[in-house]
Amino acid sequence: MRLKGIPVSPGISVGNAQIVLVKETPVIRIILPEESVEAETARLRAALEATIRDVEALKEQARGKLSEDFLSIFDAHVIILKDPALFNHAAGQIKNERVNAEFAFQSAIHSTIMGLLATDDPYFQERATDMEDLRRRTLEHLLGTDSLERTWKGENLVLLADTLTPSETGAFHNAPIVGFATEHGARTSHTAIIARSLEIPAVVGVKGLMEAAVSERPVIVDGLTGSVILNPTKEEITEYRQRAEAYKEQRRQILAHARVEARTIDGHRILVAANVDLTDEVQSAIQVGANGVGLYRSEFLFLDCAPDLPTEEQHLAYYNRIAEPFYPHRVVIRTLDLGGEKYFHNVLDRSERNPVLGVRAVRFCLKHPEMFKTQLRGLLRASARKNVAILIPLITTVEEFHEVLGLLDTCKAELRAKGIPFDEGVPVGIMVEVPSTALTAEAFAPLVDFFSIGTNDLIQYLLAIDRNNDSVAHLYDPMHPAVLKCIAAVCEAAQKAGKPVAVCGEVAADPRMTALLLGLGVGSLSMTPSSILDVKARVRNLALKSCQKLAKKALLSPSGKGVAALVDAFLEKGDRAI
Ligand code: PEP
Ligand code: MG
Repeated sequence: MRLKGIPVSPGISVGNAQIVLVKETPVIRIILPEESVEAETARLRAALEATIRDVEALKEQARGKLSEDFLSIFDAHVIILKDPALFNHAAGQIKNERVNAEFAFQSAIHSTIMGLLATDDPYFQERATDMEDLRRRTLEHLLGTDSLERTWKGENLVLLADTLTPSETGAFHNAPIVGFATEHGARTSHTAIIARSLEIPAVVGVKGLMEAAVSERPVIVDGLTGSVILNPTKEEITEYRQRAEAYKEQRRQILAHARVEARTIDGHRILVAANVDLTDEVQSAIQVGANGVGLYRSEFLFLDCAPDLPTEEQHLAYYNRIAEPFYPHRVVIRTLDLGGEKYFHNVLDRSERNPVLGVRAVRFCLKHPEMFKTQLRGLLRASARKNVAILIPLITTVEEFHEVLGLLDTCKAELRAKGIPFDEGVPVGIMVEVPSTALTAEAFAPLVDFFSIGTNDLIQYLLAIDRNNDSVAHLYDPMHPAVLKCIAAVCEAAQKAGKPVAVCGEVAADPRMTALLLGLGVGSLSMTPSSILDVKARVRNLALKSCQKLAKKALLSPSGKGVAALVDAFLEKGDRAI
């Protein structure tokens, strides 16, 4: 039986199914005699402490297997468990309502989980999964049960579960587990991220999985396509074993080419850099030979520190974690781009009617200059090594950029006065993601050190398509001639002023777009590390001269479909098609 889900960790595993059942003992409400309140509160405290010990033990076991970044997920769990608000909420209920610790704890953590789920924000919904993990563990201690089978029997196990929590997944590294599939889950979940980090093939969001799954039968999990095959035939097993081997061989070959630069047939070097969201991705980016980081989204630092704002020291420490390992390659760090429904943070105004067009990114930073200056000082200090560049998102007017430069000058003066070192010539660039900025790029060109085109938002604002709305996803077309015209306008203005242009939106990762982007004049591409080798390989097969001809023709096309046909013909027949 073949089911489909979301592939979240690449590779193919063929193994024996082991169903992970969460056998929860129901929590019932018991009214206690007055004299038991103290003992019950102590029982709650002991259970929380036991869970803290569990989490710390898991962290120790995972040390060396998971990077520091992922290990910090366990630290975050300990912080949640030590939160006095959680304990006080439950202890208050034990005291006031004289209920048992299980019931009080369940209702205290349940209200926090519900609060997180109600935010409608994928980040906070994920934190709800983390809380669920802690809820289960603490209840196990209180009830004296063990809901999850933790001693794995057999070899080559492929786990099939409704969901798996991050701490469960983090413990897989020393278990005979070769893959997993879950009925629920998303690509951005911690569970998925840990699976990628451990290089365990995984598929999540497999509808109907738990109804169809049978334990101890063969199963195939294809983390490349999202297929999960229960009870495969002998032929399927042979075929997928071959595919798994072919994938491993392909990865070996690709990695062997990681150091080969991306130079076109006619000798033009293209920089292929990495988009890094979590500092943990630094190692995979280096492994695939990224030419530095083209976009680090600092929102993740802010979300990590929430509900507090990061201090200058935290900014510095975080940026150093990226800039140091990449030295001497350049690392482009983008200032805060919160808002616009991308991520939720308590500092945002939740009452905005249309946040995508509201106080987002640099607009938000300029409204909170002290917060912004803390980030700018952190960035300047991280630039002392001279491989950091600063990128400002969502710039719409020249005045806005002047205001940013003014604040940056103030921060430089503050650091100078204290004798703190920084790069006096730190490059400052802007994201081009608002159509007006693309169309007036010549006004920005003398002011900036570089342009970085954010096609994700540029397309959203140019074609009036909500980037998060599935119903209009079919209209989200990077080949639309209007998108190409905006990119061409930026490249033309930049070239006149001698400034470089990068693309850091998702289109940079699409090898089908590479010829068009190079032809329009883009000199560097920044993308998720997993796409770097494919895009580098594509660049090496292209001649810049031909790409320029292709782009010229594409700009005259009346529609995205026309451009797509042109690109496909070019990729098939080369120059003969243009
Ligand atoms: C973009 O808009 O293309 C971009 C790279 O930024 P983000 O996806 O973070 O908005
Ligand atoms: Mg953007």
